[in-house]
Amino acid sequence: MSKESESCCSVPPADSNASLCPEDGFAGKPVDFTTVAALANGPVPPRQTFRLCHDAECDVVYYGSAGAVLTVSDLNVQPGFKSAGDGLVCYCFLHRKDDIARQLSESGETTIFDSIESEVEAGNCACDVRSPSGKCCLGEVRETIRILEKEMGVNA
Ligand SMILES: [Zn+2]
Repeated sequence: MSKESESCCSVPPADSNASLCPEDGFAGKPVDFTTVAALANGPVPPRQTFRLCHDAECDVVYYGSAGAVLTVSDLNVQPGFKSAGDGLVCYCFLHRKDDIARQLSESGETTIFDSIESEVEAGNCACDVRSPSGKCCLGEVRETIRILEKEMGVNA
């Protein structure tokens, strides 16, 4: 396994006895309670160990060790990795998949990754309380750009 990230961008890996999403059985990665509490649009759920379901077709975003479940509509952001979401890929600076696609179609390139990266380097990100995964969005943004470039026939 490659060492993917450090600093603000790291989360602990899922344990081997990871609990699974009650909806679709996805093996979610742990998310800090602070992140769940910050993104819940209702009252803060009871404190427990939460995991993130990353399956695009599943409506569940967080599920907890004591049975709490938060779906897309229970959050104050609409995660771009959910098909029910609105395509948001950077939750700190509010970039959407559509913004990247528009830049790519207009100029064949996008400045969004670099723009986010400079903000992160300047210490302006707050992924723990803005991003559903609680971690940096750059990996997902890079992947989104790669997929869009392929779909749109744009050469990087
Ligand atoms: Zn799920």
